[in-house]
Amino acid sequence: MIDTKTSFDREAAGTAKNARPLFFIGDLHLSEAIPKTVAAFEHFIEVTANDADSVFILGDLFEFWIGDDILDGPATDPRASFARRMTRLMHTLSERGIGLYVMHGNRDFLLGKRFMKDAGALPLPDPFVITAFGKRIVLAHGDGLCTADRAYQAFRSFARNKLAQRLFLALPLDTRLGIGQRMRSKSEGARVTTGVKAKYDVTKKAVAELFINSRTNTLIHGHTHRPAMHREVAGVRWVLPDWELDADPPRGGYLRVDEEGVRPLPL
Ligand code: MN
Repeated sequence: MIDTKTSFDREAAGTAKNARPLFFIGDLHLSEAIPKTVAAFEHFIEVTANDADSVFILGDLFEFWIGDDILDGPATDPRASFARRMTRLMHTLSERGIGLYVMHGNRDFLLGKRFMKDAGALPLPDPFVITAFGKRIVLAHGDGLCTADRAYQAFRSFARNKLAQRLFLALPLDTRLGIGQRMRSKSEGARVTTGVKAKYDVTKKAVAELFINSRTNTLIHGHTHRPAMHREVAGVRWVLPDWELDADPPRGGYLRVDEEGVRPLPL
């Protein structure tokens, strides 16, 4: 399902002369376990973002999000303190007149209304079309395009099912934390190299269909952790880098969109 009725209400900002650019990031996989990546995010929000009209986070901002009620956790719980610290940080964007849009990833699809309110963010459906500087651009996290991985697509449908989500959220916080911890340690090895197994990159077919259905010829997505610019049959596909400042060599970066087009930039 493509949302073609754009609710990107800062469109005027993106079409006016001398308009400020839009910044796109994703796959930061933030947790209290990677302090250098957290520090880079703080610098990005507090300093880098001041040049932007709006910041778009295209999924997997957090390594895992077990439910918005973590925001009410005790101060003695480092995960609760961390969640509050990050939402407060993001809220400073709206206080400076900078827009913040957040799309769910496959790790943080439980980010809910409370999180969006506390972070001063507007949620984006996946996929979503924006018009910026007179150009239509389709945004996606990217996992929905990895259609060759049938087992994952089955899990994705289940995980995004509202009833399944309600059942999970009804579990005690500690049980959910335990499940999240297990999912995290399982993926630890995979996270070091790439986000997705090579044979499960996005498929040509899914990308072509997205260009046609969204009536765009520019796509920005993340998820695969393979930053690149691909010239596809029906358009140009930009892949966001993941962030891992605690790795050697460190990784990270963002895409800037202005009247001159799309440009990848280092942190
Ligand atoms: Mn992902």
